[in-house]
Amino acid sequence: MGTDANQNPGCLGAVLRLLGIGTEASPSDTALPFRVRDDFLSPAELSFYRALSAAVNARAHICPKVNLADIFFVVRPNENQGARGRISQKHVDFLLCDSQTMKPLVGIELDDSSHARSKRQERDALVDAVFVAAALPLLRIPAAASYSPIELASKLSAHLSVAAPAATESAPLPAEAADAQEGMPACPKCGVSMALRTASKGEQSGRQFYGCQNYPKCRETRPVG
Ligand SMILES: [Zn+2]
Repeated sequence: MGTDANQNPGCLGAVLRLLGIGTEASPSDTALPFRVRDDFLSPAELSFYRALSAAVNARAHICPKVNLADIFFVVRPNENQGARGRISQKHVDFLLCDSQTMKPLVGIELDDSSHARSKRQERDALVDAVFVAAALPLLRIPAAASYSPIELASKLSAHLSVAAPAATESAPLPAEAADAQEGMPACPKCGVSMALRTASKGEQSGRQFYGCQNYPKCRETRPVG
């Protein structure tokens, strides 16, 4: 991580060209106009982060400022053009992820007074709808001068309980997921037709299974037969 530019000058050259900067100068001579922000988290966000950190108590990873397009994907991109664009400029204030798998568990929005503005309300409504559609919980916490970690912990407790083990190929899946049109099962998560795959590694190597066409964004599988 972070060493790509040193190991791959071709890649850096491409980046510099994109930025309209010549590649004659060495990277250290090239003064790109970037600096580290001192306000990565605002004072209000930092105050909340500290309470959240105490409330979570290492039971999950806290990721601040996560782009919605990194959390969600568009199930049928051809039929839903523009859907990704609607979320790609939007962030959730905090995302709690499973410590082991980094699977997203719950989003948290810190609602300050700006959330009363109508433009902000429109944005909030879209964010709420995206979380609902994808069945990921979203908590809205009103911004305050201080927070009780105990109160926060109780609000989060339902979302931090041990997650159910991931579905395996042998797990029973809903019968209504069958898609008669294609003769292939439909993905229970996406609704799109699955495709026949062959496992290339692990104990199941060589065995066929149905896999979602949205892999790797969706890792749903079904057994054959
Ligand atoms: Zn799927």
